[in-house]
Amino acid sequence: MKIKALNGFKDIVPGEVELWQKVENTARDIFSRFNFSEIRMPILEKTDLFARSIGEATDIVEKEMYTFIDKQITMRPEATASLIRAYIQHGLHVQKPVQRLFTIGPMFRHERPQKGRLRQFHQMDAEVLGTATPRVDSEIMAMGAMLLQELGITVSLEMNSLGCPACRPGFREKLLHFIEERMDKLCDNCKRRSKTNPLRVLDCKNPRCREEVEEAPSILEHLCADCDEHFTQVQKGLQDLDVQYSLNKFMVRGLDYYTRTTFEFITEDLGSQAAVGAGGRYDGLVEKLGGPKVPGIGFALGMERLILLLQQQEDVETDSATVDIFVASLGDTASEFAFPLVHALRQKGLLTAMDHEGRSLKSQMKQANKASAKFVLILGENELEQGQAVLKNMATQEQQDIAILSDNNEMASSLLERCQ
Ligand code: ATP
Ligand code: MG
Repeated sequence: MKIKALNGFKDIVPGEVELWQKVENTARDIFSRFNFSEIRMPILEKTDLFARSIGEATDIVEKEMYTFIDKQITMRPEATASLIRAYIQHGLHVQKPVQRLFTIGPMFRHERPQKGRLRQFHQMDAEVLGTATPRVDSEIMAMGAMLLQELGITVSLEMNSLGCPACRPGFREKLLHFIEERMDKLCDNCKRRSKTNPLRVLDCKNPRCREEVEEAPSILEHLCADCDEHFTQVQKGLQDLDVQYSLNKFMVRGLDYYTRTTFEFITEDLGSQAAVGAGGRYDGLVEKLGGPKVPGIGFALGMERLILLLQQQEDVETDSATVDIFVASLGDTASEFAFPLVHALRQKGLLTAMDHEGRSLKSQMKQANKASAKFVLILGENELEQGQAVLKNMATQEQQDIAILSDNNEMASSLLERCQ
């Protein structure tokens, strides 16, 4: 019996991996333009880290985490909590008052696998810690928009404010009152959630619930003066940077740590997996995890969804490496000679290939063609004896005789010059 990968876990094989590299390289380029530094965290963390940050009454913590229950450790379901744990642990706030950090890697959630929804998926995550200025909210959304634009992916940016501990409880009460009046018409999940986290009723995907909350009070009309001013400035910032956005009063996000600005990048091309990225401000989170009183904001893009969108486009250019020189050898003596020469060529920096199976010249030329080799060095037994080899330029089909040098290093240098 063949052993297959687990349901919801996927291999990324050659042919597809080039798109992943393109997405990742583009992200690294954009993140560095915005002066972000990379940070890498482990995949396993103490379960408590996620319970305390994401929140006990969230889908992620309630039912999506991969937890080793006998050890109280969990495979990270998202990056922000781990990143802040590392930020606090290494005193990064002391080194620099404002830290701009990004990380790229796999996350794990036990949910129903479908197109654009896996159990191991990958996020590109950017966070700014140490500043509460609304400028950074605008800047980080503009960065996400720039990255998606650079990839040729069309999205809309939706935004909301969730207020702060000063204004959210008042809104929560008002919303709860509204919900209680319609409780019997809501789905079971919403009924349950109205007790733990009534704001989440606003983003229930059930069409009946959606209809019921259509007229729900808007948090934007219940913000305190500070949150209101912050939100106004965030929008001004987006306008200054020419970033299109719309307001969505139903967006509450599935993580408890958000305050003030929340946002999502939405696509129309992936069915119900519409969010390609999401994020928001979390001004109380660092303190909650035992760190200094430091505000923060960040977002994560889902790589699988970006790849699906790229695959739906035609002619997406990727830079897959092609072979600089294929060394074709005929017979044992030539093959013996070729083996260390290939190594020397690689030391000189050339992408070099050879066949180790003693196949025919025809077969080796086929392999060279398939690899889009730029040059082929043909080493025949007789030619070798006469100190000769043939170098073929595959683009022009031109062939030239070249002298064999007994020193591999010199031979490689001479080939390097001719293959430029
Ligand atoms: P969704 O509503 O689709 O479940 P989410 O709100 O749970 O998304 P976040 O926790 O905000 O997602 O994660 C940020 C991004 O990571 C999402 O916008 C999405 O692109 C991606 N993502 C989240 N969960 C998955 C998953 N199981 N498989 C693939 N991508 C995912
Ligand atoms: Mg989810």
